[in-house]
Amino acid sequence: MRIDEFEERESLKNILWGTGVGTWEWNVQTGETRFNERWAEIVGYRLDELQPTTIDTWMSFAHPEDLQESEQKLNAHFQGEADYYECEARMRHRGGHWIWVLDRGRVVTWTEDGEPEWVAGTHLDITQRKQTEAALRESERLYRLAQTATGVGIWNWSLEKDQVFWDQHCWKMLGMQPSDQPMNYKSWRDRLHPDDLLRVEPEVQKQLKEGQGFVIEFRFLTANNTWLWLQGRGQVVEKTSAGLPLRMMGTHTDIHQRKEAEIRQQEQAEALKNSNQELEQFAYVASHDLRQPLRMINSYLQMLERRLGDDLDTDNRKMMDFARSGAQRLDQMLLSLLEYSRVGRKGQPKQQVSLATSIEEVLNFLYPEIQSSGAEITWNPDEWPEVYASFDEMTRLFQNLIGNAIKYHKADQVPVIHLGVSSKGAFWEMVIEDQGIGIDSTQFSRLFQVFQRLHAQGEYEGTGVGLAIARKIVERHRGEIWVESEGEGQGSCFYFTLPKNRAEAG
Ligand code: ADP
Repeated sequence: MRIDEFEERESLKNILWGTGVGTWEWNVQTGETRFNERWAEIVGYRLDELQPTTIDTWMSFAHPEDLQESEQKLNAHFQGEADYYECEARMRHRGGHWIWVLDRGRVVTWTEDGEPEWVAGTHLDITQRKQTEAALRESERLYRLAQTATGVGIWNWSLEKDQVFWDQHCWKMLGMQPSDQPMNYKSWRDRLHPDDLLRVEPEVQKQLKEGQGFVIEFRFLTANNTWLWLQGRGQVVEKTSAGLPLRMMGTHTDIHQRKEAEIRQQEQAEALKNSNQELEQFAYVASHDLRQPLRMINSYLQMLERRLGDDLDTDNRKMMDFARSGAQRLDQMLLSLLEYSRVGRKGQPKQQVSLATSIEEVLNFLYPEIQSSGAEITWNPDEWPEVYASFDEMTRLFQNLIGNAIKYHKADQVPVIHLGVSSKGAFWEMVIEDQGIGIDSTQFSRLFQVFQRLHAQGEYEGTGVGLAIARKIVERHRGEIWVESEGEGQGSCFYFTLPKNRAEAG
């Protein structure tokens, strides 16, 4: 070898080393091969460990599945169908794992019969690229699966050309044939429900200016001319250097079922509210206006009684008494009903109030009953929280419950009552516990209805509206009320809850 030839070879070797490429030469006719050090290094060996090398050395490292493809491609090149040979193939590394190489080569000498003789080529380690590609493919696959699973469609609006591209999910949710043809903003807008357009349009314009992103619900025209509720999200994702929006991207989600259910629920709630208002109005008018003729009956009864005076015999006097006490009772009932219908209309507005103050007021008010019955009431004012409520109504509530606990005591015992409060998650739970006559569990739900009583008027006085009022007050404050008792003679516990949070209390 001449000196300059030697130098050229050395310099080529250095360049090759710099590229990290392994080289191979193979005599197709004799099977003789020559590999460079890097070729061996790619699979984790030193070249001298692989000596003597033949074409079998390559075959023993290559993945059997890739050998077939490699052979096909080689033959295509040998037969002149391809200018060179190129194949991506796996090789087993010394460590036992597979690595990927890009295998390239071409025939450099031919036999006199036109058969390929020496073929020279390179191996480039592309394992990392392959792994990145596989990870990308996997992430793309999972992304598509997630899209299918969630039914989310993706849109992409290029503002420069005013082209709106939809993915296949966007088309499918509207029953339309997927198309690669972009729409423009106007054709997208034209399919929006006119009522919703008034909300959507300003939101999109605002997003174009300010760019915080939007979430908005609207109806869109489907292929068979029905309206489908969609949730659209969007955000500007590319801007010019001057900050002008270039591209907006977002999603469409089919929320039709949820939205329909929501609308039905709203309508039902509205209808219920109206009917409740009508009922309350009716109860108010009825109880208020009925008292007038009743007063008349009462005064004529009194006049009759006075005129007849001593002419009334015992029987007639009894009948007269019944008529009068009937009229009185009716008046009491009308008054209670009036009071019931007034809950929520006449009371003080909701504000932060102290329940301890409310209880103290009630105990003062009930002082005569407490005194006459000798009731023992235990409670700790420091335990009682402040709540967001109408003070009047809280006082009314405690008055009815504590009043009952005093009233329904056992004939031979003084009333023993405990007022307690405890924290239950987002709510306060209060209890008015007595050791009185108790309640049969089959009667629990009946008690909270208007005019429902378990006892005759002669036994205990009352109109049967106190607990109905209590329930109305508690429910107006977004709480619940219920009773527990082991049965007759076993005492009763009346529970109610109130939200701790002001927003929850409405
Ligand atoms: P009223 O006390 O005017 O009859 P309420 O609506 O306050 O009306 O109570 C309804 C019924 O529930 C009462 O008639 C009584 O039978 C029963 N009740 C209420 N509180 C108690 C209690 N603490 N112990 C036993 N029974 C009770």
